[in-house]
Amino acid sequence: KQTFPKPSKTRLIAVANQKGGVGKTTSTVNLAAALANNGAQVLVLDMDPQGNASTALGVRHASGEPSVYDVLEGRLTLAEVKHQCPDFETLDVVPASIDLSGAELEVADLPNRNSLLKEAVDKFLAESDVHYDYVFIDCPPSLGLLVINAMCAVHEMLIPIQAEYYALEGLGQLINTIGLVQDHFNPSLTVSTMLVTMFDRRTLLSREVFNEVKNHYPSIVLETTIPRTVKISEAPSFSKSVIAYDPHGMGAISYGEAALEIARRSENVLEAIATRMKEA
Ligand code: ADP
Ligand code: MG
Repeated sequence: KQTFPKPSKTRLIAVANQKGGVGKTTSTVNLAAALANNGAQVLVLDMDPQGNASTALGVRHASGEPSVYDVLEGRLTLAEVKHQCPDFETLDVVPASIDLSGAELEVADLPNRNSLLKEAVDKFLAESDVHYDYVFIDCPPSLGLLVINAMCAVHEMLIPIQAEYYALEGLGQLINTIGLVQDHFNPSLTVSTMLVTMFDRRTLLSREVFNEVKNHYPSIVLETTIPRTVKISEAPSFSKSVIAYDPHGMGAISYGEAALEIARRSENVLEAIATRMKEA
Protein backbone atom coordinates (compact mmCIF):
# COMPACT_ATOMS: atom_id res chain seq x y z
CA LYS A 1 0.00 0.00 0.00
CA GLN A 2 1.18 3.50 -0.86
CA THR A 3 2.33 5.71 2.01
CA PHE A 4 2.27 9.50 2.13
CA PRO A 5 5.02 11.49 3.87
CA LYS A 6 4.17 11.90 7.54
CA PRO A 7 4.32 15.25 9.35
CA SER A 8 7.06 15.54 11.99
CA LYS A 9 4.45 16.81 14.46
CA THR A 10 0.71 16.38 14.85
CA ARG A 11 -1.16 18.67 12.46
CA LEU A 12 -4.31 20.08 14.06
CA ILE A 13 -6.72 21.32 11.40
CA ALA A 14 -10.16 22.92 11.74
CA VAL A 15 -12.31 22.71 8.61
CA ALA A 16 -14.46 25.82 8.64
CA ASN A 17 -16.60 28.12 6.54
CA GLN A 18 -19.69 29.73 8.01
CA LYS A 19 -21.59 28.99 4.79
CA GLY A 20 -23.48 25.72 4.83
CA GLY A 21 -23.20 23.19 2.03
CA VAL A 22 -19.76 24.16 0.75
CA GLY A 23 -18.19 20.75 1.42
CA LYS A 24 -16.77 21.06 4.95
CA THR A 25 -17.99 17.69 6.16
CA THR A 26 -17.37 15.93 2.85
CA SER A 27 -13.82 17.26 2.75
CA THR A 28 -13.14 16.46 6.41
CA VAL A 29 -14.19 12.83 6.18
CA ASN A 30 -12.65 12.13 2.79
CA LEU A 31 -9.32 13.85 3.43
CA ALA A 32 -9.12 12.06 6.79
CA ALA A 33 -10.00 8.72 5.18
CA ALA A 34 -7.51 9.24 2.34
CA LEU A 35 -4.71 10.09 4.77
CA ALA A 36 -5.56 7.10 6.99
CA ASN A 37 -5.72 4.87 3.92
CA ASN A 38 -2.17 5.96 3.11
CA GLY A 39 -0.59 5.17 6.43
CA ALA A 40 -1.41 8.17 8.63
CA GLN A 41 -2.97 7.96 12.09
CA VAL A 42 -5.94 10.33 12.02
CA LEU A 43 -8.57 11.63 14.42
CA VAL A 44 -11.78 13.31 13.24
CA LEU A 45 -13.59 15.43 15.79
CA ASP A 46 -17.18 16.18 14.86
CA MET A 47 -18.16 19.60 16.21
CA ASP A 48 -21.39 19.97 14.24
CA PRO A 49 -24.60 19.09 16.14
CA GLN A 50 -25.88 17.63 12.83
CA GLY A 51 -23.31 14.84 13.25
CA ASN A 52 -22.85 14.42 9.50
CA ALA A 53 -19.16 13.56 9.78
CA SER A 54 -20.01 10.88 12.35
CA THR A 55 -22.61 9.41 9.97
CA ALA A 56 -20.28 9.47 6.99
CA LEU A 57 -17.60 7.60 8.93
CA GLY A 58 -20.00 4.95 10.19
CA VAL A 59 -20.08 6.01 13.84
CA ARG A 60 -23.30 6.13 15.85
CA HIS A 61 -24.37 9.51 17.17
CA ALA A 62 -27.89 9.22 18.54
CA SER A 63 -28.97 11.78 21.11
CA GLY A 64 -27.92 10.72 24.60
CA GLU A 65 -24.96 8.63 23.44
CA PRO A 66 -21.48 9.62 24.64
CA SER A 67 -20.15 12.34 22.34
CA VAL A 68 -18.04 15.48 22.14
CA TYR A 69 -20.87 17.23 24.01
CA ASP A 70 -20.00 15.28 27.17
CA VAL A 71 -16.34 16.22 26.68
CA LEU A 72 -17.08 19.96 26.44
CA GLU A 73 -19.17 19.74 29.58
CA GLY A 74 -16.42 17.89 31.45
CA ARG A 75 -18.26 14.62 32.02
CA LEU A 76 -16.14 12.38 29.77
CA THR A 77 -12.72 12.51 28.09
CA LEU A 78 -12.05 12.31 24.35
CA ALA A 79 -10.44 8.91 24.94
CA GLU A 80 -13.72 7.70 26.42
CA VAL A 81 -15.94 8.86 23.56
CA LYS A 82 -13.78 8.06 20.52
CA HIS A 83 -14.61 5.20 18.16
CA GLN A 84 -12.64 3.57 15.40
CA CYS A 85 -14.02 4.11 11.90
CA PRO A 86 -15.08 0.61 10.76
CA ASP A 87 -13.41 1.06 7.35
CA PHE A 88 -9.94 2.23 8.43
CA GLU A 89 -7.84 0.88 11.27
CA THR A 90 -5.95 4.16 11.74
CA LEU A 91 -8.96 6.49 11.67
CA ASP A 92 -10.65 7.42 14.93
CA VAL A 93 -13.80 9.48 15.24
CA VAL A 94 -15.26 11.51 18.08
CA PRO A 95 -18.98 11.78 17.29
CA ALA A 96 -21.29 14.73 17.78
CA SER A 97 -25.01 14.47 18.36
CA ILE A 98 -27.86 16.95 18.38
CA ASP A 99 -27.21 17.35 22.12
CA LEU A 100 -24.26 19.53 21.14
CA SER A 101 -26.65 22.28 20.04
CA GLY A 102 -27.28 22.99 23.73
CA ALA A 103 -23.61 23.39 24.60
CA GLU A 104 -23.19 26.98 23.37
CA LEU A 105 -25.71 28.22 25.92
CA GLU A 106 -24.76 25.81 28.67
CA VAL A 107 -21.09 26.79 28.77
CA ALA A 108 -21.61 30.48 27.90
CA ASP A 109 -20.83 31.69 31.43
CA LEU A 110 -17.68 29.63 31.98
CA PRO A 111 -14.51 31.74 32.04
CA ASN A 112 -12.72 29.12 29.89
CA ARG A 113 -15.66 28.68 27.49
CA ASN A 114 -13.47 29.30 24.42
CA SER A 115 -10.77 26.81 25.34
CA LEU A 116 -12.85 23.83 26.49
CA LEU A 117 -12.06 21.83 23.36
CA LYS A 118 -8.39 22.85 23.34
CA GLU A 119 -7.95 21.64 26.92
CA ALA A 120 -9.54 18.30 26.04
CA VAL A 121 -7.53 17.85 22.82
CA ASP A 122 -4.19 18.75 24.40
CA LYS A 123 -4.79 16.36 27.29
CA PHE A 124 -5.91 13.60 24.93
CA LEU A 125 -2.87 13.92 22.64
CA ALA A 126 -0.47 14.07 25.60
CA GLU A 127 -1.91 10.93 27.18
CA SER A 128 -2.64 8.90 24.05
CA ASP A 129 -0.66 5.71 23.44
CA VAL A 130 -0.77 6.20 19.69
CA HIS A 131 0.73 9.21 17.95
CA TYR A 132 -1.72 11.06 15.74
CA ASP A 133 -0.42 12.58 12.51
CA TYR A 134 -3.57 14.58 11.85
CA VAL A 135 -6.52 15.83 13.86
CA PHE A 136 -9.38 17.25 11.77
CA ILE A 137 -12.26 19.17 13.33
CA ASP A 138 -15.46 19.43 11.29
CA CYS A 139 -17.10 22.75 12.16
CA PRO A 140 -20.78 23.74 11.98
CA PRO A 141 -21.82 26.49 9.53
CA SER A 142 -21.54 29.42 11.93
CA LEU A 143 -18.97 31.59 13.66
CA GLY A 144 -20.31 30.82 17.12
CA LEU A 145 -18.78 29.36 20.26
CA LEU A 146 -18.35 25.85 18.85
CA VAL A 147 -16.31 27.21 15.94
CA ILE A 148 -14.29 29.49 18.25
CA ASN A 149 -13.52 26.40 20.36
CA ALA A 150 -12.30 24.62 17.22
CA MET A 151 -10.17 27.63 16.21
CA CYS A 152 -8.61 27.72 19.68
CA ALA A 153 -7.81 23.99 19.64
CA VAL A 154 -5.86 23.92 16.35
CA HIS A 155 -2.97 25.62 14.57
CA GLU A 156 -4.44 25.37 11.08
CA MET A 157 -7.62 26.32 9.27
CA LEU A 158 -8.71 24.49 6.14
CA ILE A 159 -11.35 26.45 4.24
CA PRO A 160 -13.40 24.61 1.61
CA ILE A 161 -14.67 26.88 -1.13
CA GLN A 162 -17.52 25.83 -3.35
CA ALA A 163 -16.94 26.66 -6.99
CA GLU A 164 -20.04 28.80 -7.47
CA TYR A 165 -20.94 32.39 -8.12
CA TYR A 166 -20.93 33.68 -4.53
CA ALA A 167 -17.88 31.62 -3.56
CA LEU A 168 -15.82 34.39 -2.01
CA GLU A 169 -18.71 36.18 -0.37
CA GLY A 170 -18.44 35.80 3.38
CA LEU A 171 -14.78 34.84 3.19
CA GLY A 172 -13.80 38.28 4.50
CA GLN A 173 -15.94 37.77 7.59
CA LEU A 174 -14.36 34.37 8.20
CA ILE A 175 -10.83 35.78 7.82
CA ASN A 176 -11.83 38.59 10.24
CA THR A 177 -12.96 36.13 12.87
CA ILE A 178 -9.75 34.14 12.44
CA GLY A 179 -7.86 37.42 12.99
CA LEU A 180 -9.75 38.08 16.23
CA VAL A 181 -8.99 34.57 17.49
CA GLN A 182 -5.32 35.08 16.57
CA ASP A 183 -5.20 38.38 18.49
CA HIS A 184 -7.04 37.25 21.60
CA PHE A 185 -6.70 33.51 22.04
CA ASN A 186 -4.49 31.62 19.62
CA PRO A 187 -1.53 33.40 17.99
CA SER A 188 -0.47 30.20 16.21
CA LEU A 189 -3.63 30.02 14.09
CA THR A 190 -2.76 29.90 10.39
CA VAL A 191 -4.95 29.55 7.31
CA SER A 192 -2.89 26.77 5.80
CA THR A 193 -5.21 25.35 3.17
CA MET A 194 -8.08 26.23 0.85
CA LEU A 195 -9.76 23.57 -1.23
CA VAL A 196 -12.08 24.28 -4.13
CA THR A 197 -14.97 21.82 -4.05
CA MET A 198 -17.80 20.82 -6.38
CA PHE A 199 -15.70 21.91 -9.32
CA ASP A 200 -17.30 21.48 -12.72
CA ARG A 201 -14.64 21.47 -15.40
CA ARG A 202 -17.22 22.08 -18.15
CA THR A 203 -18.09 25.51 -16.79
CA LEU A 204 -16.11 28.68 -17.13
CA LEU A 205 -17.45 29.75 -13.73
CA SER A 206 -15.65 26.95 -11.88
CA ARG A 207 -12.37 27.88 -13.53
CA GLU A 208 -12.97 31.57 -12.74
CA VAL A 209 -13.64 30.82 -9.07
CA PHE A 210 -10.47 28.74 -8.86
CA ASN A 211 -8.42 31.50 -10.51
CA GLU A 212 -9.86 34.16 -8.22
CA VAL A 213 -9.09 32.16 -5.07
CA LYS A 214 -5.64 31.42 -6.48
CA ASN A 215 -5.02 35.14 -7.10
CA HIS A 216 -6.01 36.10 -3.55
CA TYR A 217 -4.34 33.19 -1.75
CA PRO A 218 -1.67 31.85 -4.12
CA SER A 219 0.27 29.67 -1.66
CA ILE A 220 -2.75 28.46 0.29
CA VAL A 221 -5.13 27.02 -2.28
CA LEU A 222 -4.48 23.41 -3.30
CA GLU A 223 -3.84 22.75 -6.99
CA THR A 224 -6.19 19.77 -6.74
CA THR A 225 -9.88 20.59 -7.04
CA ILE A 226 -12.71 18.26 -6.07
CA PRO A 227 -15.20 17.52 -8.88
CA ARG A 228 -18.91 17.26 -8.29
CA THR A 229 -19.69 13.53 -8.48
CA VAL A 230 -22.72 11.41 -7.63
CA LYS A 231 -20.58 8.90 -5.68
CA ILE A 232 -19.32 11.61 -3.33
CA SER A 233 -22.88 12.64 -2.49
CA GLU A 234 -24.12 9.02 -2.23
CA ALA A 235 -21.39 7.70 0.06
CA PRO A 236 -22.75 9.15 3.35
CA SER A 237 -26.08 7.36 2.89
CA PHE A 238 -24.07 4.12 3.11
CA SER A 239 -22.26 5.44 6.22
CA LYS A 240 -19.06 5.54 4.23
CA SER A 241 -16.41 7.91 3.02
CA VAL A 242 -16.09 7.89 -0.77
CA ILE A 243 -12.60 6.43 -0.21
CA ALA A 244 -14.25 3.25 1.13
CA TYR A 245 -17.45 3.41 -0.96
CA ASP A 246 -15.95 3.93 -4.41
CA PRO A 247 -12.17 3.69 -4.01
CA HIS A 248 -11.32 3.87 -7.72
CA GLY A 249 -13.76 6.61 -8.76
CA MET A 250 -12.98 10.23 -9.53
CA GLY A 251 -14.14 11.41 -6.09
CA ALA A 252 -11.79 9.11 -4.19
CA ILE A 253 -8.94 9.85 -6.59
CA SER A 254 -9.39 13.62 -6.20
CA TYR A 255 -9.59 13.52 -2.42
CA GLY A 256 -6.54 11.23 -2.48
CA GLU A 257 -4.61 13.77 -4.54
CA ALA A 258 -5.69 16.65 -2.30
CA ALA A 259 -4.63 14.61 0.76
CA LEU A 260 -1.23 13.95 -0.79
CA GLU A 261 -0.79 17.67 -1.46
CA ILE A 262 -1.68 18.40 2.17
CA ALA A 263 0.81 15.76 3.35
CA ARG A 264 3.59 17.11 1.12
CA ARG A 265 3.13 20.63 2.50
CA SER A 266 3.47 19.49 6.11
CA GLU A 267 6.96 20.74 6.89
CA ASN A 268 6.37 24.14 5.25
CA VAL A 269 3.15 24.57 7.19
CA LEU A 270 4.66 23.46 10.52
CA GLU A 271 7.53 25.92 9.95
CA ALA A 272 5.09 28.77 9.24
CA ILE A 273 3.21 27.98 12.46
CA ALA A 274 6.46 27.90 14.48
CA THR A 275 7.41 31.30 13.04
CA ARG A 276 4.00 32.75 13.94
CA MET A 277 4.36 31.51 17.50
CA LYS A 278 7.87 32.95 17.84
CA GLU A 279 6.67 36.36 16.65
CA ALA A 280 3.69 36.37 19.00
P1 ADP B 1 -21.01 21.44 4.66
O1 ADP B 1 -20.42 20.49 5.65
O2 ADP B 1 -20.10 22.58 4.33
O3 ADP B 1 -22.38 21.92 5.06
P2 ADP B 1 -21.29 19.11 2.98
O4 ADP B 1 -19.94 18.50 2.94
O5 ADP B 1 -22.28 18.48 3.91
O6 ADP B 1 -21.19 20.66 3.27
O7 ADP B 1 -21.84 19.14 1.49
C1 ADP B 1 -23.13 19.67 1.21
C2 ADP B 1 -23.87 18.73 0.25
O8 ADP B 1 -23.17 18.66 -0.99
C3 ADP B 1 -23.95 17.31 0.76
O9 ADP B 1 -25.18 16.77 0.39
C4 ADP B 1 -22.81 16.60 0.05
O10 ADP B 1 -23.06 15.22 -0.13
C5 ADP B 1 -22.78 17.34 -1.26
N1 ADP B 1 -21.41 17.38 -1.83
C6 ADP B 1 -20.31 17.89 -1.23
N2 ADP B 1 -19.24 17.79 -2.05
C7 ADP B 1 -19.69 17.18 -3.18
C8 ADP B 1 -19.09 16.80 -4.42
N3 ADP B 1 -17.79 17.02 -4.65
N4 ADP B 1 -19.86 16.21 -5.35
C9 ADP B 1 -21.18 15.99 -5.13
N5 ADP B 1 -21.81 16.33 -4.01
C10 ADP B 1 -21.08 16.92 -3.04
MG1 MG C 1 -21.15 19.91 7.56
